[in-house]
Amino acid sequence: MGFHYNAPASMSELLSGIKNADNCYFLAGGTDLVVKIKEGLIAPEFVVDLGKIKELREIADAGLVIIIGATVTHSQLQKSPLIKKYAAVLASAAGQVGSPQIRNVGTVGGNICNASPVADTSPALLVLDGVVEVKGVNGNRNIPLKDFFVRPAVTVLEKGEFVTSIYIKKVQPGEGASFQKIGKRKALAISVTNAAVWLKKDGDKIADIRIALGAVAAKTIRIPAVEDQLKGLVFDQSVASKAGELAKASVKPITDLRSTADYRADVVDVIVEQAMCEAWAQAKGGN
Ligand SMILES: Cc1cc2nc3c(=O)[nH]c(=O)nc-3n(C[C@H](O)[C@H](O)[C@H](O)COP(=O)(O)OP(=O)(O)OC[C@H]3O[C@@H](n4cnc5c(N)ncnc54)[C@H](O)[C@@H]3O)c2cc1C
Repeated sequence: MGFHYNAPASMSELLSGIKNADNCYFLAGGTDLVVKIKEGLIAPEFVVDLGKIKELREIADAGLVIIIGATVTHSQLQKSPLIKKYAAVLASAAGQVGSPQIRNVGTVGGNICNASPVADTSPALLVLDGVVEVKGVNGNRNIPLKDFFVRPAVTVLEKGEFVTSIYIKKVQPGEGASFQKIGKRKALAISVTNAAVWLKKDGDKIADIRIALGAVAAKTIRIPAVEDQLKGLVFDQSVASKAGELAKASVKPITDLRSTADYRADVVDVIVEQAMCEAWAQAKGGN
C-alpha cells in the first residue's frame, strides 16, 4: 500500500503542510516506523519526513537546561560534549540503544514518540525532569515528560502535533545520575528492564531524588512514593539496597516473550541499587 511522502525543508513549510489526520505519521530515523509499516501494523496515508529541518537536529546550551532537538540521533547524544558533561546519564542511555547503525539514524524524538515502555532514553530523560516541546496545527505546548506517555505506542500528542525538542535539566555539582539496563545479550538488546536515578546530596543525606523505571508497566514510570521515602535519609549501602527493595515492591511487571514478571521485579531491585550507588558516587565527585 502506498502513501503520500513529504519532506519539508523548513519549519514553516512543515507547519503549513501538516495533515490533521489520524493516518499522518512523522518520520525521523524510521527505525520503528518503517518496521511497523513493513509488518502491516500501521498503514499511513501521509508520511512527513522531519529529516531536512536543521533546527530539529541541534543540541543547545540554555543555561540551566539543555535543549535537544527531536531529530538528534542517539549517536549525537552519545558523543556531544555538552551532554557528556551535564547529562552523562543520557549519553549512557543513548549509547546502549541497539547497534551503531540504529544509533546513527534513530532519534531521541522517535524514541519517546514511539512510546515503548522499554525505550532506553525515556528513564534518563524522566530523571532529568524532561519537558517535551510540541508544535501543531493548533499552536504550541510544553508537556512534562512524566505526563507524555499513555500506553505502548500511545502518547498524549494529538492529531497534527509533533515534538520539536526536549528540555532537560543539567546535572549540577552535588548531583549525580545513572542509567542501568539489563537485556538478554550484551549488544543489540532491547531492555528486559531499565532504570535511571538522579539524586542531589546535602552532606551525607539524599536531599532530593528521582527514579524512573522501564519495562515494568505499560509506560516508563516515575515512582514518587518510593522517592519520598528516600528523601532526607543518610546515604549508605543499606539505603541503596532499601531503594532497590522499595522499587521492586512498587511495580507489577508482566511476563512476555522477553522475560518473566518475577525476573523483571528481581532485576529492578538490583539495577536501582546499582544506579543509586553510581549516582551517589558521582554526586560526591567520585567520577
Ligand atoms: C534492530 C533494532 C534495535 C533497537 N534497539 C533499541 C534499543 O536497544 N533501545 C531502544 O530504546 N530502542 C531500540 N530500538 C527502537 C528504535 O530504534 C528507537 O526507538 C529509535 O529511537 C526510534 O527513533 P526513530 O528516529 O527511528 O523513530 P521513527 O521510526 O522515525 O519514529 C518512531 C515513531 O515516532 C513518531 N515520531 C518520530 N519523531 C517524531 C516527532 N518529532 N514528533 C512526533 N512523532 C514523531 C513516528 O511517527 C513513529 O510513530 C531498536 C530498533 C531496531 C530496529
